[in-house]
Amino acid sequence: MRVYIWLKIPFSMKKFLSGLILMVCLQAHSQNGPSPTPSKPKLVIGIVVDQMRWDYLYRYAEKYGQTGFKRLQTGYNCENTHIPYVPSITAPGHTCIYTGSVPAIHGIIGNEWYSREDKKVVNCVDDDAAKTVGAPGNAGNMSPQRMLTTTITDELRMASNFHSKVIGIAAKDRGAILPAGHAANGAYWFDGKSGNWITSTFYMDTLPDWVNKFNAQKLPAKYAAGNWHTLLDISKYTESTADDEPYERALKGEDKPVFPHMIADEVSKNPGALIGTPWGNTITFDFAKAVIAGEKMGKGGYTDFLTMSCSSTDYVGHQFGPNSIEAEDCYLRFDKDLGDFLSYLDKEIGAGNYLIFLSADHGAAHSVGFSDQHKIPTGAMTGDSLIKGANAYLRSKYGADSLIESYNNMQVYLHYANIKNHNLDVDAVRRDLTQYLLTVKGVAKVLNLPELMTVVLPAPYREAFINGYNQKRSGDVQVVYEPAHLEGYSKGTTHSAVYAYDTHIPLLWYGWNVKAGHDYTPTYMTDIAATLAAMLHIQEPNGCIGKPIAVSK
Ligand SMILES: [Zn+2]
Repeated sequence: MRVYIWLKIPFSMKKFLSGLILMVCLQAHSQNGPSPTPSKPKLVIGIVVDQMRWDYLYRYAEKYGQTGFKRLQTGYNCENTHIPYVPSITAPGHTCIYTGSVPAIHGIIGNEWYSREDKKVVNCVDDDAAKTVGAPGNAGNMSPQRMLTTTITDELRMASNFHSKVIGIAAKDRGAILPAGHAANGAYWFDGKSGNWITSTFYMDTLPDWVNKFNAQKLPAKYAAGNWHTLLDISKYTESTADDEPYERALKGEDKPVFPHMIADEVSKNPGALIGTPWGNTITFDFAKAVIAGEKMGKGGYTDFLTMSCSSTDYVGHQFGPNSIEAEDCYLRFDKDLGDFLSYLDKEIGAGNYLIFLSADHGAAHSVGFSDQHKIPTGAMTGDSLIKGANAYLRSKYGADSLIESYNNMQVYLHYANIKNHNLDVDAVRRDLTQYLLTVKGVAKVLNLPELMTVVLPAPYREAFINGYNQKRSGDVQVVYEPAHLEGYSKGTTHSAVYAYDTHIPLLWYGWNVKAGHDYTPTYMTDIAATLAAMLHIQEPNGCIGKPIAVSK
């Protein structure tokens, strides 16, 4: 009967009625059903929190709001993410995240390293061919030229035939330059002398107007004017040690490492001092918003990519240690800044249109003094005394001086020419030196690097050292200290070790196409770029050894 009525209706009427029914159905779907996930994100944002240990997600959780870390944790949380190489420091960390690769392949073996070729210590991003844009001085003579592989951001540029925009920002030059890759539209970092965000001629010849406008606000002095008081009443920082501990380091111009930190004067003379306070992160978020607005990121019909690194958490950690009120205050403020940034993205890009991951370049150890106070085996080591002892040993053994050319990143570089001049055998010197260094108190292992495959080490550690060993750039002998033995930091803290406190980092995914959940399956820093490549359906970086993590819906 119903079919009969339908057949009797004239064709033009049928067409009209079909359209009406379809419209009603679509309306009902959009009102009741989930809105469909767009096929690609408008904007990807990578946030690296310098020196953030995984446990900070939980240690201060009671004091975090709902809009920052906790909002990101409603996405996908890879709880057991580790760094799969040594050394766990800033430049290799940022490079690994964005290349999915390790120092053995991408070549960034340290923040700096000894170059046998140049006979000097070279910085990971220095480049004499590039000149500063945006300030006087050479803080901008930088480029990613020493990085040997592509980044996920390079791959996005190539996959979109260079329509996707890629920009990297960080207070630290290396935190901006390495993530943005070789083919970036720009990278900007903070020049401590002028207080300006600058770039280099590697990217452009003049700063865009929106950067000049941002710099003209002179935000460092404005942020520092109120000095550094705790966000909450100081009695509320029950997760941290007392304000004045002997193993904290005072800021420049201070007698004691205690609140309130009177930073206004110092920052007015030296804007770079702001980066040692939580406002170094705040200004980075401010600049991120300026990049998005100024470059119309996420508005061009192609997926754009903003890489940002928040460096102040690292400076504060080094200065005061991970158990300090200063470190806690820095994370509480970061949590607020992050929440504010996410609401900005909701407004400008639209919730569900942007994809975020948040991770860290490395963690940090407890301060030596703190560990000592609590009977945890620890020690303060110095590279100088280690090498002084090694030279004395080699002199007595071989009757020769200057057989060591350099000591960097806890690696000894032997002086091949001097060894040859004394008619000595390099392999024998290397083996003898390895045996000697092992006798030093606080040294756990000494690895003869060219013979790494034969070293007796638990498999994950051996793999980490192999991943960190670059045949052309690394030294001859790697010194491995016992856990919690820190070189060069009798106060405050540092990082670089193969141990969990330095290698266990947060990894949160949030936004476009990200499912809700968390798991403890082992994942690695190298998996981040692989996951992004899979989600964006683009080729992974050319040196990528990571695997995609199942974070998509
Ligand atoms: Zn650091």
